[in-house]
Amino acid sequence: MTSTQQHLTPVDPARLTEVLDGRWAHVRRDARDQLGEQKYAPVYGETNAEARERITGLLKDLAATGRTRLGFPKAYGGEDDAGASVTSIEMLAFGDLSLMVKAGVQWGLFGGAVQLLGTERHHAAHLRKIIDADLLGCFAMTETGHGSDVQQLRTTCTYDPDTQTFDLHTPHESARKDYIGNAAKDGRMAVVFAQLITQGKRHGVHAWLVPIRDEAGNPVPGVTIGDDGPKAGLNGVDNGRLSFDHVSVPRDMLLDRYGQVAEDGTYTSSIENETRRFFTMLGTLVRGRVSVGGSAGSATKLALQIAIRYGEKRRQFAAPGEDREIVVNDYLVHQRKLLPALATSYALHFAQEELTSTMHDVQGAETVDEAAQRELESRAAGLKAANTWHATRTIQMCREACGGQGYLAENRLPALKADTDVFTTFEGDNTVLLQLVAKGLLTGYQDSFGSLDSWGKAQFVADLVKETVLERTAARGLIARLVDAVPGRDEEVSLLDRGWQLKMFEDREKHTLEGAANRLRKGAANKSNRLFDVFNDVQDHVLRTATTHIDRVVLEAFVAAVDRTADPAARALLAKLCDLYALTTIEADRGWFLEHGRLTPARSKAVTSTVNALLKELRPFMTTLVDGFAIPDAWVQARIVTEEGPRQEVMAAEDARVRAAAAPGDSAVDTPDATAVDLEMAPAQ
Ligand SMILES: Cc1cc2nc3c(=O)[nH]c(=O)nc-3n(C[C@H](O)[C@H](O)[C@H](O)COP(=O)(O)OP(=O)(O)OC[C@H]3O[C@@H](n4cnc5c(N)ncnc54)[C@H](O)[C@@H]3O)c2cc1C
Repeated sequence: MTSTQQHLTPVDPARLTEVLDGRWAHVRRDARDQLGEQKYAPVYGETNAEARERITGLLKDLAATGRTRLGFPKAYGGEDDAGASVTSIEMLAFGDLSLMVKAGVQWGLFGGAVQLLGTERHHAAHLRKIIDADLLGCFAMTETGHGSDVQQLRTTCTYDPDTQTFDLHTPHESARKDYIGNAAKDGRMAVVFAQLITQGKRHGVHAWLVPIRDEAGNPVPGVTIGDDGPKAGLNGVDNGRLSFDHVSVPRDMLLDRYGQVAEDGTYTSSIENETRRFFTMLGTLVRGRVSVGGSAGSATKLALQIAIRYGEKRRQFAAPGEDREIVVNDYLVHQRKLLPALATSYALHFAQEELTSTMHDVQGAETVDEAAQRELESRAAGLKAANTWHATRTIQMCREACGGQGYLAENRLPALKADTDVFTTFEGDNTVLLQLVAKGLLTGYQDSFGSLDSWGKAQFVADLVKETVLERTAARGLIARLVDAVPGRDEEVSLLDRGWQLKMFEDREKHTLEGAANRLRKGAANKSNRLFDVFNDVQDHVLRTATTHIDRVVLEAFVAAVDRTADPAARALLAKLCDLYALTTIEADRGWFLEHGRLTPARSKAVTSTVNALLKELRPFMTTLVDGFAIPDAWVQARIVTEEGPRQEVMAAEDARVRAAAAPGDSAVDTPDATAVDLEMAPAQ
């Protein structure tokens, strides 16, 4: 399939759902069946205390559905299915996002850390209780002073062989644990990250399982618990602060899969390098990051579903000579807002599905493939950033696309906006995550462990790959065939040629990567430059390598999904949507393509006219495309979706009645003078 100049025919949305549901279709179907109850829908106007109480109750209900055990080991009642657990969280994000986040903290972060950083004794003692929500816990990594650079945490945990205990201590306010989910109200234990010190030597950040509240819910001696108070959203999540005043932690509470302390205080680890050890530990926790990206995707699909369904019924301004006003989805600029975002949501969905699958396979493999693990972490970081930024922008756009209605809580969009806002920050600040992606690309995933800070100082400039090789994606064979088949000179190739589109994305990534590498090399060659400045002077360029890389990965995932779509009508529709994703991405960055001679001015203009033509073709399929997401009606919870249609019909019927009853020539019932083409608007509206 090199060209998509096909005529579209009606599509059954179920055929789209089949492609979207992918490898964990059964998990998605179960979620639609199990979680459709009204109690999982968001509630507006609650106090913080009410929201927290309700969400804690729902957390227990969720445990009773059995969905919370999917990612845990079979030996403790789980199903050993990492992909299913991430997909399940993603589905939960169609409901109240506070519940999704609280579940993510309990089973993804807290449970995940006990499972993946702990050993047999920790599993035996705690995993069943964690799965059943009988033990609620926290993941206490971030400190007030260190969020992105967690290798520099200041909390210490010092071993004393005489008592065989650790002394956990918060030396100052910057070392206080902050924003910690489950801390302010519910958590009984916390996985606390701190600098391990034994026999007078520091061994870097490790994690301990630490009780923070007693049975009655009071803080245990030495632990001070604070509340982060009202937030911009996620009011059902009890984020709080934790400080430790020389709290005694038994030796066996160290989560010691990657580093052990013997009775006499001798430290051992299979990973000698401290930085490498820390990033290996963090790498095992990639599930949380994957879940946040997927959940942002769900919230965005929901917003698009609301805006597109409303836009299908909402009418504003009349067309000259017509009785009824124009449906807002018929306006080109409305399509310009909604359809490219919808295309991006499809594209990101397929990339996310591929990521979940890779994560499942890498984590489930018998032997650890370090290169695959590093690529997985990079892909998870990049797609988390892409998905969450797309969510923030698109939900705001959908809010505006619904006009004043979009601002009302009863129409869901304000909560979607407020609750997903922080997704760009937690589980890794997006800007910092992009640097992680860029680092992998620039070092060719060589063994170059280091924090982002030390990356600026360390060897990496010398390690830069001599030849830029694009990181492969699952669809590499298919992509290579399409790119190789591009005929003739660029200007002669159709903008709808898939191979040409792919080549444009590849080319931009390769050029950007090589340019960044060259600039870093040049900067490093000048010995008087501080290495930090070498890095910092090209930081924007370095980040562009990450975004251009992610764009390509996402396009390739979309192309692969089109290729595996069996139903011909659905396949043609997805191919067209893929064109829209590719061309609007090129259009948005046309400055680069023009500057670098990849587009002539004439061809650049043709991109815009082709996008507009695609919008026209896709216009009749807007609702089909959102129906493909198969979001149950019970989850949508936006009154405008159901109320605007009947309201418009009543008004139209009344208008028709008035018209029929009017005397001939009565100007009061003629089509209004000011129509959609007159651009009249009353002042001070
Ligand atoms: C609601 C909420 C819930 C949370 N839940 C938890 C939890 O349960 N457990 C937990 O441990 N943590 C949690 N966090 C903390 C979260 O992970 C951190 O807020 C996040 O990692 C960012 O750290 P920071 O807030 O210190 O921001 P900073 O790291 O201070 O970043 C501030 C700004 O500086 C920029 N910046 C930083 N470094 C660089 C750089 N090298 N180059 C360029 N720019 C840079 C960033 O892009 C950002 O714009 C939560 C946070 C929130 C808000």
